[in-house]
Amino acid sequence: MYKAVVIGGGPAGLSAAIHLARANLEPLVIKGFEPSKYLITTMEVDSYPGFPAGVDGPTLLDNMAKQAEQFGARIRIGNVQRVDLSKRPYAIDIQGYGTVEAESVVIATGASFKLLGIPGEEANFGRGVSICATCSGYFSTGKKAIVVGGGDSALEEAIYLTRYASEVTIVHRRNELRASKGMQERARQYGKIKWALNRTPIEVLADEHGVTGLKVMNHETGSEEVIEGRRLYVAIGTRPNTGFLEGQLPTNERGYLLVKPGTTETGIPGVFACGDVQDPRYGQITSAIGSGCMAAVDCERYLDSLVVEEAVAL
Ligand code: NAP
Repeated sequence: MYKAVVIGGGPAGLSAAIHLARANLEPLVIKGFEPSKYLITTMEVDSYPGFPAGVDGPTLLDNMAKQAEQFGARIRIGNVQRVDLSKRPYAIDIQGYGTVEAESVVIATGASFKLLGIPGEEANFGRGVSICATCSGYFSTGKKAIVVGGGDSALEEAIYLTRYASEVTIVHRRNELRASKGMQERARQYGKIKWALNRTPIEVLADEHGVTGLKVMNHETGSEEVIEGRRLYVAIGTRPNTGFLEGQLPTNERGYLLVKPGTTETGIPGVFACGDVQDPRYGQITSAIGSGCMAAVDCERYLDSLVVEEAVAL
């Protein structure tokens, strides 16, 4: 049996693993097959404290994994299929590996970007379709760009893209934006931003050079139209990766795990959550790493309390 199992091998999970391993708790880290959101979006992390010249995202995560292993963590690649948190020790089923038991569990499975699921989207990833303006905005230089979504992320991406693109069209399926009033006011100050509201994306159009535009349904006219653009940014939100929990832990209305404010405690003793899976607000590599450290400290204190309980019982 493990004292601590960390589910998730992104920044939050590895940060928790480093601190748990440093405390001699020999954690098992289960790292899924899907790469961390931060590897998809952030090849070059230029805001990570201590690296004035920036740091390459994959290298940062590789180094974190090495650091955790160096202190005694074990890292296994595999998908967690389900967990049983109804009784202690907690049981974790790992696909192709079997069941492991743990006195405590740190959930750090992150969140995945939502996609439109329309024709042409997947086929044109890397050919003009992107989910991250800050990573690839430069490629919009002098071109028309399209951003899909009506939330804060979409408007923020659009504002960022005005640095490079000749014009940025925000396509949103309703007439009302979901973004905060402040963000809407900011976005409306940019002359380069055009608005295509009440339009649902139908198909990503492309030629041999990549994306050429987005076919949409205009709900005002009831007919299809094409919005031209060489770059298309999908910014329709994220979805926390909690399927394997099968509703055993409380979530907010968007599915993010709920933790006791100011802690990483989930409500089940010895089960902690950190990183994007419990963070609908910040979504930064630095905040994920910070909350991983918090989870490790909470976990260590919990395991200490078990030792005290056992000593009193003797
Ligand atoms: P969000 O608030 O959930 O907005 C997602 C947007 O995408 C919505 O407008 C939604 O349309 C649209 N959408 C969803 N599925 C779609 C589909 N299949 N086809 C077309 N459109 C679709 O997500 P977010 O913008 O990523 O923001 C997430 C959270 O982070 C929010 O709490 C936000 O305030 C916060 N955030 C804050 C900042 C900031 O303050 N600087 C920046 C970014 C994010 P509907 O409106 O019709 O549902």
